Parts: sequence; structure tokens; C-alpha cells
Amino acid sequence: MSEPKLPITGGCLCGAVRYSVSAEPIAVRQCWCRDCQYWGSGSATVNAVFERDKVALTGVLTDFVSKAESGNTMHRGFCPTCGTPVTSASDARPNFVILRVGTLDQPSLAAPAMAIWTDSAPQWAHMDPEVPATPKGAPPLPPVSR
Ligand SMILES: [Zn+2]
Ligand SMILES: [Zn+2]
Repeated sequence: MSEPKLPITGGCLCGAVRYSVSAEPIAVRQCWCRDCQYWGSGSATVNAVFERDKVALTGVLTDFVSKAESGNTMHRGFCPTCGTPVTSASDARPNFVILRVGTLDQPSLAAPAMAIWTDSAPQWAHMDPEVPATPKGAPPLPPVSR
């Protein structure tokens, strides 16, 4: 994977929501949890984790609040016009925001380094044997250097 050029930009399909990120992602994961299969239309979601204060977002997202399988309260932000899932965040980790990799202007910049919740994946799901996988939730994020 080549070093992403900063800022990393993206937005929803209709263009009403746009963002710009001034730092590289801390982690990129593919998530097969049951909730993500709804947002991913059957597949996993691919999620890049960023420090929240590095992300500048314009436009209005609708906030869908739910309890994750982990027990954490989650916020999923989607565009009310085109329905694109753009953000995800956990109340347990308020300093981080997740951007859905499909919304990056260049999705190739963020290859998943881990697959999580693979126990919840459908039997036909394709897992890349080169990518580490964990049957349940993600391991803790690495400490953030400043
Ligand atoms: Zn939109
Ligand atoms: Zn998930």
C-alpha cells in the first residue's frame, strides 16, 4: 500500500457530505458483524479509524444510534439524501471517528489490515487468507502519538 497523500478526501455518493482528513488512518478493518451486513448490503463494511480532530466534515449526516454487540453505544452517520453510510463512532472511544472506506475519493488508499467479527459472516463470505482475522471484536487501538 502506498503512503496516502494528505489530505485524504471523500464524501457521500450525492456530494452533500464531504470530508477532508489531515492524517493517515490509525487502523483499517473489515467488519463482518451482523449490523455491518445491513450497512454493507450483505458484505462486510470496510472502516478506516481516524483521530476525530483530524477530520473536517461538511454537510449534514443523520445519526443512527444503536447498541453494538460489544455493548458500546454506536453512532452511525449516513447521508439523508443518498443513504450512503459515511461515519461510525463509539461513545467508548470519543476521540476517534470511523470513515467508511467506500466513501474515500480513492478507496485503494485504505486496505484492510484485519477482519473482525468473522464468526458473524455468512457462509459464502470470502476471507482473504493474507489478512489476519478475529472471530469477535477488534483488539484495542494502538496508542496515539502526538
Ligand atoms: Zn449524499
Ligand atoms: Zn461491524
